[in-house]
Amino acid sequence: MKKIVILGGGESGVGAALLAKAKGFDVFLSDKGILSDKYKKNLSQNGIPFEEGEHTEAKILDAHEIIKSPGIPDKVELIKKLHSLRIPIISEIEFASRYTKAKIIAITGSNGKTTTTLLTYHILKNAGLNVGLAGNIGESFAKQVIENTFDYFVLELSSFQLDNCFNFKADVAILLNITPDHLDRYNYEFQPYIESKFRVLQNMTSADDFIYYQESEALMGELSKRTDLTVNRLPISLLGKVEQGGSLQNETLHVQYKQQSFDFAVAELPIKGSHNAINTMCAVLACKSLGIDNEQIASGLKSFQSVEHRLEPCGELKGVQYINDSKATNVDSVFYALGSYNDSIILIMGGVDKGNDYRQIEQLVVQKVKALICMGKDNSKLLEFFGKKVPMIYSVDSMQKAVQLSCDLGTEGDVVLLSPACASFDLFKNYEDRGRQFKAAVAGLD
Ligand code: ADP
Repeated sequence: MKKIVILGGGESGVGAALLAKAKGFDVFLSDKGILSDKYKKNLSQNGIPFEEGEHTEAKILDAHEIIKSPGIPDKVELIKKLHSLRIPIISEIEFASRYTKAKIIAITGSNGKTTTTLLTYHILKNAGLNVGLAGNIGESFAKQVIENTFDYFVLELSSFQLDNCFNFKADVAILLNITPDHLDRYNYEFQPYIESKFRVLQNMTSADDFIYYQESEALMGELSKRTDLTVNRLPISLLGKVEQGGSLQNETLHVQYKQQSFDFAVAELPIKGSHNAINTMCAVLACKSLGIDNEQIASGLKSFQSVEHRLEPCGELKGVQYINDSKATNVDSVFYALGSYNDSIILIMGGVDKGNDYRQIEQLVVQKVKALICMGKDNSKLLEFFGKKVPMIYSVDSMQKAVQLSCDLGTEGDVVLLSPACASFDLFKNYEDRGRQFKAAVAGLD
């Protein structure tokens, strides 16, 4: 019997184990960390052997195939050993895709994946399609294909998930943008990260649609090299007109797909900011590609609710607005956050730096930020870069202090914006925890 070993026992790993078991493989799951009780129970109930707190090589190196969690970097010794033994290493997405005939809408990019995925899913579901939501979000793709009841899947894909995809093929692909992120996992080089995002296009043909933002420099640079691509191109532009694709014309989103067009006023969008105009046009084009009619798309757009921790308004006190953008974990997302407000901004930024280059937001910060509150265990890089560029700069090491300070500094008409540009795990469990602590601290102000 073919042996499959799963490395990593989170949502995707456990889902892969359940699917592999359901398909009759000999399965073993190994996690160097500790598994949650829920997942342990899940595995035991299905008779799947597992270990935690260690990787026992004797139980791993005899596998025919490895399914690796996207969280495990390639530089880990065990992975290097598996490569040298030529044991194939795939992702849960690659594995699950073998067991479904559903049409796949794959969404990737450095920023905007979750928003665009949820919006696309919402419109399709609202239009009555039998559609599932998976990938980097919610319940794993693998677990959902065990029953295999969906006709469509909207998948949010990270570069790590794409890295171990080979035969996976999307029917519609959205590539939102490519800006430096996660470079710590790519030897601090941008090019391999760009290439990993482009893997979303692998195996696509001229019958498939590729939707992308054409003002993303790195994306276009790479696309100009890919002369072999036959996939049907549908660009999105905020600056000019496009024949087929999406563009912004007189404050209206204009989408052209084959002979059909769709127009929607920006002012009526439920999600604000120019980045969300891009995300929306991508979602609309994907829906047009699947044949959804205009009324259904408009109705889906109107009933969509904005996503937590992404430019989420969370209160107003003494004329000062508080905005939770905790999900902004890189510089590009802060760029769009700053661009979404005209008012003077008190910006809370900082955390674990992933090799950030702050020059992209320098001008906007100089223009709009009246006070910068650096919130992290080590604020030295921010203090050094912005020290002489903003009227006021502070260093704090807790959310409570950051929010209290912004309240003390805020005057009518200001916006307090938590948009950190950094990962959260120096002071918080994750970005959700950071966002919730922000909201709780704001609610506690008087
Ligand atoms: P992801 O899943 O790719 O991290 P999210 O939808 O969760 O994307 O958004 C992450 C952050 O990026 C938020 O701060 C959000 O405001 C910002 N953002 C959303 N869409 C875009 C976009 N198209 N370009 C740049 N930033 C964006």
